[in-house]
Amino acid sequence: MLDILRRVVQEVNSTENLEQALLVIVEEVKKALQVDVCSVYLVSPDQTELVLMATDGLYPESLYKVRLKFSEGLVGLVAQRAEPVNLDNAPDHPRFKYFPETGEERYHAFLGVPVIHQRRLLGVLVIQQLEQRRFDDEHAAFLITLAAQLASAISHAEISGEIDALRRETGHPDLFVHGVSGAPGVGIGTAWVVFASADLEAVPNRVADDQDREIRLFKEAVEAVRNEMLSLKARMAGFLPSGERVLFDAFVMLLSSDTLVDRTIEHIAAGNWAPGALRETIQENASVFDEMEDEYMRERGNDIRDLGRRILMYLEKSEQNAGLQLPPHTILVGENVSVSELADVPPQVLAGVVSGKGSASSHVAILARALGVPAVMGAAELPFGRLDGREVIVDGYTGRVHIQPSQQVKNEFLRLEQEEKELAAGLDELADKPAITPDGERIAVYVNSGLLADINMAFKSESDGIGLYRTELPFMVRERFPSEDEQYRTYRQVLESVAPRPVILRTLDVGGDKVLPYFPIEEDNPFLGWRGIRITLDHPEIFLTQVRAMLRASVGLNNMKILLPMVSSAREVDDSLQLLKRAWRELVDEKVDVVMPQVGIMVEIPSAVYMIESLTRRVDFVSVGTNDLVQFILAVDRNNAQVADLFRSLDPAVLRALKAIVEGAHKFQKPVSICGEMASDPAAVILLLGLGVESLSVSVAGLPRVKWVIHSFTRSRARELFAQVFDMDDPAQIRSTLNNALVEVGLGGLVRAGKR
Ligand code: PEP
Ligand code: MG
Repeated sequence: MLDILRRVVQEVNSTENLEQALLVIVEEVKKALQVDVCSVYLVSPDQTELVLMATDGLYPESLYKVRLKFSEGLVGLVAQRAEPVNLDNAPDHPRFKYFPETGEERYHAFLGVPVIHQRRLLGVLVIQQLEQRRFDDEHAAFLITLAAQLASAISHAEISGEIDALRRETGHPDLFVHGVSGAPGVGIGTAWVVFASADLEAVPNRVADDQDREIRLFKEAVEAVRNEMLSLKARMAGFLPSGERVLFDAFVMLLSSDTLVDRTIEHIAAGNWAPGALRETIQENASVFDEMEDEYMRERGNDIRDLGRRILMYLEKSEQNAGLQLPPHTILVGENVSVSELADVPPQVLAGVVSGKGSASSHVAILARALGVPAVMGAAELPFGRLDGREVIVDGYTGRVHIQPSQQVKNEFLRLEQEEKELAAGLDELADKPAITPDGERIAVYVNSGLLADINMAFKSESDGIGLYRTELPFMVRERFPSEDEQYRTYRQVLESVAPRPVILRTLDVGGDKVLPYFPIEEDNPFLGWRGIRITLDHPEIFLTQVRAMLRASVGLNNMKILLPMVSSAREVDDSLQLLKRAWRELVDEKVDVVMPQVGIMVEIPSAVYMIESLTRRVDFVSVGTNDLVQFILAVDRNNAQVADLFRSLDPAVLRALKAIVEGAHKFQKPVSICGEMASDPAAVILLLGLGVESLSVSVAGLPRVKWVIHSFTRSRARELFAQVFDMDDPAQIRSTLNNALVEVGLGGLVRAGKR
């Protein structure tokens, strides 16, 4: 059964459109379960009816004609109950509804199961048989398992637009896919799909401008792989008997075969670019083998895919060298967009970001916010392979992605975009002014920096300095650990550009979702694993090199502070301080004129909240990393879109933790800063003011609106509001109370920016 299941799901996933996918389902299920009928009904786009979309067994002329309200027929009953209905004699049932065009009256046994995806009913899968009998448990269990697996494939195919027969009949309703808000704003542009290198299945279709060039690149890549295979065969001569080496001949033959070469050229001639055409050919060829019962033959499908990946690697190299032309308003789209893919797109053309994975706290979203580019994360349902070159709208407020919007929808968003610009122009006036509350309290507002493109903007912005410099970047963009001198030059440049304003340099915080290509860490639970200070304490040579570079960079400027990430115990602070002192002493001995900088800890682990007094006693300041702190307090993965709605920085538990941190640190007269994304959320800023924090460190793009909130709320009003919401249990109620407060002081325009 498992084998059949795997095969059906694989086949469905490799189909080109929904009609094909449904056809595969009905044919395969009918065959596998040896029943007389298998049919799929899907919910209509207006959600009022179930429509027969595919059948193997009922009369074909009934397709699309049989339509049932949820209150009608046995299929409607399955949908209404959202559970299986198993009957030995269907026509006897009071809910049986007869459609003469189906020829259904002949069938007695009926088993229908709902197809549900993310709590949404997509349709009903039905099997029927002539004889009167009750389908056994095994049939039911198989169908339920299959329906669950197929739900996402159906949902995927359903939203890919061009293929839906239902849509053709009912017109083209506006199509959008839900993700979560990653960065506020609205972006309108052309989808540019990025995919993991050498991942053949993920290669999108893309229109080729120059077909001759694509054909030439393809032929060159095939030739390169052919040569590679011949040299592999030669290399194996001493190790493998000649019988086994025949395998390489088979590969070489395939590389000159019509099925591979001519077919791909046909796909290119039909309009696809070479990598997309190659994916089509390989999928066609491999699926022939996938369907075979014999395991040995099935393995041949994998050989073909392997060959395809090798050709793709060469193609990617030549496409890279040719430097592909990005659309003028690029919406960067990918199943899992990485920081470096984002950084590859020049900010002038980047109009939006859409990632199938990740959430608002992912580093890609943080970078998008720093750049002021709207982003939607966790839009896993997007048909990535068929999006390239299409017009899309990224709604970074609601987390929706609109695909090929109608003019009406587009106008609506153009209006919103205009409103945005006006709001931003108003905010810009504030950017140069210091952040002072109406009752005269000065709050330092720093910016977060370090992730590539925001650095220049941070230097230019009217902030009080850099409150969090993530040093991971100079480490991420290299092929090895940077040397002390290389690091020195980077830090010196930052410190000089910002002086005399302070810069808080954080020591290396890799692990979790920040991986160094040359220092791979394989873990089941990377966020709870070897990361941050744990790594650098285990590798004092890395830590010492980094802090020596930092200390040297500050000579004569003395505007640098050091921040320790992911601290979970006093022991870690003591060990880090000891190493830092050692580096300082070494430099003094080398006659370098260094001063010992202020040192702070990041509070981002619950143990640090409980131990706040003993930790703060040891250091000069505290900086709260709410991205990780919220993740760990609420047990909600900051990168998982599935639970992104639960990532609530205004949760009462988070407010209690923040209160404990501020009170604990203030007991020892140590200042507290908030440097997680929460500090850029206008509603949260009111609370942080009310809590009495000394400073905030925010994304560059968020700076003006944060200042605007500070200009609009006295400390005492903020304190009142903090006290008011502190007794509330419901994060939604807390958010709406604070939103109302924003509206009352005329900052309603900022409410959209703080969805989370
Ligand atoms: C945080 O965790 O809130 C933080 C600022 O650090 P990072 O986002 O780099 O983990
Ligand atoms: Mg963190």
